Amino acid sequence: MSTSKHASHTLLKSINQQKVLHLIYSDSPISRVELAQKTGLSQQTVTNIVNRLLEDEVILEGEPQSLESGSGRKRVPLLLNGSRFSAIGIELSGTYARGAAYNLRKERLAEAEMRADSYETEEDMLRVIRGVIGALIKEIPEPDGIKGISFSVHGLVDSSEGILLRSPGMGWKRIPLGRILEEEYGLPVYLENDTNLLALNENISGRLVSSRNNVTLKLGRGIGGAIFVDKTLVTGSGSVAGELGHYKAFLPPHLHECYCGGKGCLTTLASAHGLKRTLGLTVDQFRSALLAEELQAVELREAVKTAIVSALSNIVTMLNPDHIALTGTMLPVFGDSFLDELKERVLANVPQTCRNLEFVHLRTTEDDTVLAIERVLQNLFKIPLDSLSL
Ligand SMILES: [Zn+2]
Repeated sequence: MSTSKHASHTLLKSINQQKVLHLIYSDSPISRVELAQKTGLSQQTVTNIVNRLLEDEVILEGEPQSLESGSGRKRVPLLLNGSRFSAIGIELSGTYARGAAYNLRKERLAEAEMRADSYETEEDMLRVIRGVIGALIKEIPEPDGIKGISFSVHGLVDSSEGILLRSPGMGWKRIPLGRILEEEYGLPVYLENDTNLLALNENISGRLVSSRNNVTLKLGRGIGGAIFVDKTLVTGSGSVAGELGHYKAFLPPHLHECYCGGKGCLTTLASAHGLKRTLGLTVDQFRSALLAEELQAVELREAVKTAIVSALSNIVTMLNPDHIALTGTMLPVFGDSFLDELKERVLANVPQTCRNLEFVHLRTTEDDTVLAIERVLQNLFKIPLDSLSL
């Protein structure tokens, strides 16, 4: 066999194997017969592939099940050996990188965290990231089974190109993190903004499954927003759509300059970082002042609540979503009844035609590292399109 023919044969074999593995992962439990039907491969080819995968303990056979026809024949379901494969999820912020490795049953195999006061250069950030990845790889029992590294980024990201646009802790600096790490580790690398990641997971398999058009607003250390129109994340032309933190929401006397160069942005007073930067106030100080019913603090809280109501009312009027999802550590600061009040005020503000709207409080959310690995799982055993040009 010539070298190129041999290469094509090997590639075809590996594509067929990927097809079978992908189906065993996505449609499990699945039998050999069903695999042949769904892949279009011959029964013999499927049997050969399955035997090889069983021998390598990549897949397992489940308990035989009787066929419905009552013919006495049994169907043997095939399952992926979940403990053989793993994925790394990393939460990347301006002051730390925190990672965890999980097997396919989402059991945590390892954890690692590195802190940095600040990043002077791109290399500083990469050093922290490499430190976390290196520590995790050391702990994973079978490092050959790692299927990808995925990031939840507190910053702006071009996820299709794997580029950090507004890098956490480094401002507007384009860093092709995906490419750098893919070359270094030989693994697929996925990057997504933290709020987008949360909204993606809620839309795919969480509390927004039934929704087609929705807006997620996260009020925490910073402010994040994610907009879904017709079940698709709106990215905009520069991958920065949905940045609701910079929605112009304040007027004097609460009009303050924002780090983005604009004025009156929602984040200047409605996020923990904004409160600190704009007024030198920590969330704990703000909370204590509210408990003591200090007039200035109470007035500030009312102004911030009105700003959030106004921003959401305009967004609802513009996009006509069916759901608004709210989350974040700042929400409780505005009081227990804030969500009910917000709903009532927004609904009173918007045109009657936009009032078919549900509010969802994402009170608890999965850990960022778990949300991140979903991207690896969604792409598991997918066949790269460029490998099909035989
Ligand atoms: Zn701004």
